[in-house]
This record gives sequence, structure tokens and C-alpha cells, in this order.
Amino acid sequence: VMVSMAHLQEEKLRLQEELLGLQEKLTARESDELSLSLQLQGQVETLKGKLLEQAQEISRLHSELGGTDTEKHRDLLAAENEQLRQEMKAMEGELRELRRLPAPCQDCAHLQENTELQEQLSQLQREAEDMRARLAELDVEVQQKTNRLAEVELRLKDSLAERAEEEERLSRRLRDSQETIASLKSQPQQIKYIIKTVEVESAKTKQALCESQSRNQYLQEQVGMQRQVLKEMEQQLQSSQKTVAQLRAQITMYETELERAHGQMLEEMQAMEEEKNRAIEEAFSRAQVEMKAVHENLAGVRTNLLTLQPALRTLTHDYNSLKRQVRNFPLLLQETLRNAKAEIGQAIEEVHSTNRELLRKYRRELQLRKKCHNDLVRLKGNIRVFGRVRPITKEDGEGPEATSVVTFDADDDAVLHLLHKGKQVSFELDKVFPPQASQEEVFQEVQALVTSCIDGYNVCIFAYGQTGAGKTYTMEGTAANPGINQRALQLLFSEVRGKAADWDYSISVSAAEIYNESLRDLLGKEPQEKLEIKLCPDGSGQLYVPGLTEFRVQSVEDINKVFEFGHVNRATECTNLNEHSSRSHALLIITVHGLDRSTGLRTTGKLNLVDLAGSERVGRSGAEGSRLREAQHINKSLSALGDVIYALRSRQGHVPFRNSKLTYLLQDSLSGDSKTLMMVQVSPAEKNTSETLCSLKFAERVRSVELGPVSRKAELVSWPSQEQLEGDSPGTAAPPGRAHTSPSPGQLSSRSASIRRKLQTSG
Ligand code: ADP
Ligand code: MG
Repeated sequence: VMVSMAHLQEEKLRLQEELLGLQEKLTARESDELSLSLQLQGQVETLKGKLLEQAQEISRLHSELGGTDTEKHRDLLAAENEQLRQEMKAMEGELRELRRLPAPCQDCAHLQENTELQEQLSQLQREAEDMRARLAELDVEVQQKTNRLAEVELRLKDSLAERAEEEERLSRRLRDSQETIASLKSQPQQIKYIIKTVEVESAKTKQALCESQSRNQYLQEQVGMQRQVLKEMEQQLQSSQKTVAQLRAQITMYETELERAHGQMLEEMQAMEEEKNRAIEEAFSRAQVEMKAVHENLAGVRTNLLTLQPALRTLTHDYNSLKRQVRNFPLLLQETLRNAKAEIGQAIEEVHSTNRELLRKYRRELQLRKKCHNDLVRLKGNIRVFGRVRPITKEDGEGPEATSVVTFDADDDAVLHLLHKGKQVSFELDKVFPPQASQEEVFQEVQALVTSCIDGYNVCIFAYGQTGAGKTYTMEGTAANPGINQRALQLLFSEVRGKAADWDYSISVSAAEIYNESLRDLLGKEPQEKLEIKLCPDGSGQLYVPGLTEFRVQSVEDINKVFEFGHVNRATECTNLNEHSSRSHALLIITVHGLDRSTGLRTTGKLNLVDLAGSERVGRSGAEGSRLREAQHINKSLSALGDVIYALRSRQGHVPFRNSKLTYLLQDSLSGDSKTLMMVQVSPAEKNTSETLCSLKFAERVRSVELGPVSRKAELVSWPSQEQLEGDSPGTAAPPGRAHTSPSPGQLSSRSASIRRKLQTSG
């Protein structure tokens, strides 16, 4: 027992020790718990403090920069804006008032200034409008920010509420645990269990604490974030405040400007008012002065009126007498007219008789002129021979062969010298044209012949000479420097135009060619057709060519067309135009019909312009076939022409017109009182000397058939042939043994008949 007692005692002691230990532990635990709860309480307290602080901070921030302040600001700005708006409206009203006032002075500097100010004002208004828009934008922004702030506030409130709930839960837990501790203290036997639960619970608490700590951290982060947001908003607010300040400054600037403009306007208005007053005063004083003058005038007019009344009486009297006169006027006028008519009739009668007298004299003069002309021509001879020497050309080549062998007499333009075989041979013609003579100069000498065609004479102009001596150049010429053909037509046109007052003229043109004794129409539709020369069936003895085309021409353009047509026809008919043209005679026949309207006199003149075939002696150089035939034909026709001219010039009874087509065709234009010109063309080149000699001999022989008492005895002899020409010595007169006969009476009568034919009167 003792032992057990001792054991029990020991046990009891151990248990007591254990209890003590436990108690110690408990107290330690308690103290731990206490300190923990204290700690927790402290933590909660600090959290609370922090929360409070944050709430305060938030409220402070709220008050500092929260919605209320911004709103206030906005309201303030809105109020200001409204005020400005009202001011502006007032200004506008004033402006309208000012505008409505009539401008006392037009175009003055004020007006301009006024408009400038108005422009400024409108600009300011525009700017204010911009500002307003800007303000509205800011308003919207502020509203947005306020909304966001409210949201943040709401969130904060929520988190605060959560926190309070958590706090309460924690304090409840604390209370519970304190109660548990107390109960544990009261129930030591349950301590172990309780401790255990406490242990368990404290772990839970720890966990909750941890949770709350993490939550706290999260909240703190949130707060930090919110703070940042707040800071950003603060910055935004600051910038908007700055813009607002700027806007305000601008507005004040505009205000001052508006004020200044207003002031200026007021000043101007004042000045205008003054000016208006001054003008009114001036006008008033002027009007007074004028009134006075008008009054004076009125007095004068009154006195005048008194004096005018008798004058009016006399005027009325005069008027009445005039009226009477006017009534009598038609009778007077009729009488005067009758007298005047009689006088005019008498005068007309006188003029008529003078006219008749003049017409009679004119006709007599006309006949006299014709007679004189005929006499003159008869004296000069109807056949004239000119010589023309062409210049040395490039075609003549160079060297001694191309030197000139022709010289002229300085004092006598009818003489020409040719150096032949070292001897100088002289020739005398009617006129000689040296190489430098122009187309114009040549035509000057031909002009009289051409115009006589208008008076009803027939004219022939021949170009004679070897090929290349200038026949075509003289007759046709070049486009730039036309020859006789074109100039003659031009002259005819101008002459006809000059006489148009009394005469009606018509000019027509034919062109023909004689080749190998056959006649071809160069203007016809079938140029290859051979034409015949026939006697007129009316018994007049005149010749005509049936089928020969005649073109009526009225202008230079018409002539050019006709020439061109003729050229084309000639060219299409032969392979080598140059050669062909040198072997054929080309004829241009111009017919001029005239009618003198006053006398009824009719005239017909023919101008034959002939570019003869080359006179060179081809037959002698042993030509054969067609070339020989051509040469023979040419030779024959040129000899025939010489014969005819000789016979005509020596007034022989028989003229051998029928010996060639050419002379037969030109019979009318060669006989009677017709006029003929032979233009003998020569080349001055040394190599052409013998041909030149031949041509000049021909020329001289034609010319040497002199008219006059002796020459009238000329007898019927034949013209030397082309070959004979060469053999004759130059410078001699008609061949020996030749005698001249006077024209037979029959020949004279046929001549006068031809004049009659040409001068048929319409009566
Ligand atoms: P033809 O008709 O006699 O055969 P052309 O009239 O054809 O001779 O003349 C031969 C060349 O000489 C042409 O080139 C022409 O231009 C030239 N000619 C002729 N006469 C003159 C002149 N008076 N002045 C200048 N050149 C001329
Ligand atoms: Mg020619």
C-alpha cells in the first residue's frame, strides 16, 4: 500500500506537475492567445484607421477635385458663357441699329472702316462660336469624368461595406474565442480538448487572417489604382482648366476688341452725326439764300409778265397773218413749180441738142481718127519687121563658141551688126531689141497693134527664128515674166473696160497648131482631129474653120485656164513637147467683137499670135524619114509665108495664100488693111552665126520691100526659098530684076469692102 501510496503520491505529484505544466502551458497559450487577439485587434484597429484614412482621403480628394468642384467650375463657365452670349446679343442689336441708320455720306472712309469693323466683329463672333463649341466639348468631358468618379465612389463604398462586414465577423470570432478561453479557464478538464479546438480554431483564424491580409492587400492595390486614376483625372482636369483659362483670356481679348470696335463705331457715329448736322445747316442756309434769289426772280418775272402781255398781243397778230399766208402757200407753190418745170424742160432740151451736136462731132472725129490712123499705118507700112537678140544662156555652154557675135549701134536702134567669118555684116530692121530688152519693153512696141484690134483691124504677130532663139519666150514668156500673148489679152481687157461706158465688147480665144501641113484644134475635145479651112457659105469670101473651138474669156484667170488647157492638149499628143513645138506652128487667135451703143457701130478685129516652127535648115544635114518630111513641111510653109508677105508688101495682084495651110488660114488677117509684125529672133552665140545670118537675111528681105512711088511698080516675083536665103549677100535690097507694081483698082475696092464689112452699122 505504502508503495502504492508512494506510487500514487508520486503519480499525484507527477499529475500535479503535469497539471502545473499544463497550466503553465495554458497560461502561455492564454497569453499567446491574448497577444494574438491583441495583435489581431491592433491589426484590425490599424486597418480601421487605414480605412478611415482612406475614406478621409477619398472625401478629401472628392472635395479637392471631385465632381462637385468641376461641376462648380463648369457652372461658373456656363454662367460666364451665358453672360458673354447676352453681351454679344446686345452688341449685335446695337450693330443692327447702327446698320439701320442711313449712311449720311456715301463712299467715305467711315463706311469702309465700318465694314472693316463689321468684318472684324463677324470674325470675333465666329471665334466666340468656336469657343462655345469647345466649352460644350469640355462640359461633356467633365460630365464623363463625374460619372466615372461616381462609379469609383460606388465601388469604394462597396469595398468599405465588405471590409466592415469582415471586421464585424472577425470581432465576433474574437469574442467567441475569448468566451471559449473563459470557459476553458472555468473548465480545466476540458482544456485539452478546448486547447485542441483552439489550436484547430487558431489555425482557421490564422487562415482567415491570411485571407483578410491578402484581401487587404488587394484592396490596397485597388486603392493605389484608384489613386492613379485620380491622379490622371487631376492632370486632365488641370489641362482642361488651362484650356479654360486660355479660352477665358481669349474671350477677354475679344471682349476688349469688341469694346474697342464699339468705341470706334460710337466715335464714327458721333462724327457722322456732326457732319450730318453741319450739312443740314449748310443746306438750310443755302436754301434760304436760294429762296431769296427765287423771290427776287419772281418779282422780276412778274414785272416781265406785265411787259410781255403787249408783246403776246403782237405775236398773236403775227401768227394770224402767217396762218393766212400758209393757207395761200400751196397755190403759190404750184405756180412756182410750174415755172421751174418749164425752165428745167427748156434746159433739158438745150442739153439734148448740145448732146446731139457733140455726138455728131464725136462720130466725125472717130472717122477722122480712123482715117488718120489708116494714113499713118499706110505711111509706116502695114508690115513691120523687128529683131530680138536673146541673151547668151547657160545652154550655149562656154568657150569661144558661146561668145556673142552680135553688136548694136548706140545711136540707131534699128541697126544690128553680125561678125561673120571675120567680117562685120550690118542689117537694118524697123527696130532691134538687144538681149537686155525686157518683155515689157518689147510689148510696148507691140501695144499699138494690139489695140488696133479693138478698132476692128486684123493683126498678125509672128515669131520667126531658129529653135532656141527665143520665139516661145517672146510669145508665151514665163509665168513670172509673161510674153506678148498674155500681155496682149490683158491689154485688151483693160482697153475694153475703159470703153465700157459706150461699147459692148466680147473677146474670144482659139488655139491651133499646124504640124506637117495639118491643122489641129488645141482647145477641142479631140485635138488629134484634122481640121479643114473653108470658105464662108454666105458669099462674103471670108474663111472659117468648122469645128475650131472658141472660148469666150473675161479675165486673166480665164486666159490662164485656156493656155493651160492648150498646153495640156499639145503635150498629150506628142512624146517630146520641146521638139514637137519646134517643128510646128502654134497659133493663138483672139477675136474682139465690139458694139458702139450710141451709134450702133459693130466692129470685129482678129489678133493672130503665131509661134512659128524653127527656121533651122534640117534638110541639109541629111535627115531622113519623118524628120525629113517635117523639115520639108516647115521649109515650105515658112517660104510660103515669106512669099505672101513679099507679095503683100509689094502690093502684087496675086498673093499666094494657098501655098501653105498657115498663110491660107491667116489670109484674112494678112490682106487688106491688116497689120503684120514679124519678130525675128536670133541667138548671139558664135556657134549659131550661120542660122542667125539666115534669119536676119529673111528679116531684111521682108522689110526691104519698100512702098512708095517706085516700089509700086513691083512685079510678080517669087519669094526666095529658105535655101536661097543663105546664098544671098546680106544688106542688099530686093533681088535684082524685081519691079514693083502699084495696087490694082480691084485690090483697092476689095480693101474698102473689107473696111465696110468691119464697120457694119446696126442700122
Ligand atoms: P524657141 O522657142 O525659139 O525655140 P525659146 O523661147 O524656147 O526658143 O528660148 C530658148 C531659151 O532661151 C529658153 O530657155 C528661154 O528662156 C531663153 N531665152 C530666150 N530669149 C530670152 C530672153 N530675151 N531673155 C532671157 N532668156 C531668153
Ligand atoms: Mg519654142
